[in-house]
Amino acid sequence: MISSALSSSRPRPIYLDCHATTPVDPRVLATMLPYFTEHFGNPASSTHEYGWEAEAAVQQAREAIATSIHATPEEIVFTSGATEANNLAIKGIAEAYASKGRHLITVQTEHRAVLDPCRYLESLGFELTVLPVQGDGLLDLEKLTQALRPDTVLVSVMVANNEIGVLQPIAAIGALCHAHSVLFHTDAAQAIGKVPLNVRAMNIDLMSLTAHKVYGPKGIGALYVRRRNPRVQIASQFHGGGQERGRRAGTLYSPQIVGFAAAVKLALAEREIETERVKGLRDRLWQGFQTLSGVHLNGHESQRLPGNLNLSIAGVDGQALAIGLQPLVAVSSGSACASAKREPSPVLLSLGQSPELAFASIRFGVGRFTTAEEIDRVLEGAIGVIESLRKQQFSISLPPRLS
Ligand SMILES: *Cc1c(COP(=O)(O)O)cnc(C)c1O
Repeated sequence: MISSALSSSRPRPIYLDCHATTPVDPRVLATMLPYFTEHFGNPASSTHEYGWEAEAAVQQAREAIATSIHATPEEIVFTSGATEANNLAIKGIAEAYASKGRHLITVQTEHRAVLDPCRYLESLGFELTVLPVQGDGLLDLEKLTQALRPDTVLVSVMVANNEIGVLQPIAAIGALCHAHSVLFHTDAAQAIGKVPLNVRAMNIDLMSLTAHKVYGPKGIGALYVRRRNPRVQIASQFHGGGQERGRRAGTLYSPQIVGFAAAVKLALAEREIETERVKGLRDRLWQGFQTLSGVHLNGHESQRLPGNLNLSIAGVDGQALAIGLQPLVAVSSGSACASAKREPSPVLLSLGQSPELAFASIRFGVGRFTTAEEIDRVLEGAIGVIESLRKQQFSISLPPRLS
């Protein structure tokens, strides 16, 4: 069925699911290709040219990624993505600082790649505080201050939320953590290349990055680990060849690393223009939906990623809407991980949303390759589908739900 869908000649759905992943920019791919076939050496091979050229490419990429967040190259640990970076940060800190304290703080709206490692540690006897957020999705700093304890070792709060796009007050959180001598980790998977990140000015000790949300390849990311003021220790979670200064063993994936750096450099070079353009398209979409009744914007109105629009549409099941729209537009009713299960989004529930409206949510992610013409086609199609779903809803009274 999938292969017939791929081989058919009908136009492919418009892609508005940029929080789940993004296509590799052709300019990024072009920089990667020679590293598969020509400069394929192992960066750790120190006795010949193949190794040297791969090592030089990795070093350049490390410098570019470090520079983009105001870090130094030694502070970058390459990983397979943000999930691994989050695991390395959270478990690596808990293990390295267990004698100092065993209390961690995070937030209800975090990605599962933060919540699940925290819960895993809780099962091992660590103590975990999971803070609620306000109705707009922002963390209340007063609540964070109250949650800090003498035995707190780590606070983890994301930069940009993957469902509602909300941007947390990262610099203020970092300052608060440092004032209490608590380490601060942030998951910046959705933020890199889209919002300015400065680990020094923002007092960030650990930061998770990934390439595939910013037009780079899948399977590559990094953890930034601060080396001074304070010098942060992490316990390695992968043991082997001692790569990455013993912090993450495994042969460095040089083509992906080169692509990651190329993606980050492009995103930074084009950020200001792209932010305006993408925001303009997102606002055009939002204005179009406001012609319907019962449409609710989820998350803070302005403190959000430029490409994010997350709506709850009264009387419409978000999953049914996404599937109804699927021949025209690829969207999701929430995060790619959560929407496989039929549960209301925990992110929306923690904003105080009713389960009905949480089920009625749909997430649009506008990106680099989205055009105004596509936005208009999506609006035209979506409004028709919403109206017909609402009619059905009245005749069936309850939305059909699996399980
Ligand atoms: C996508 C995403 C992740 C997971 O990143 P991978 O590189 O796919 O492992 C983690 N956190 C957030 C906020 C994300 O959006």
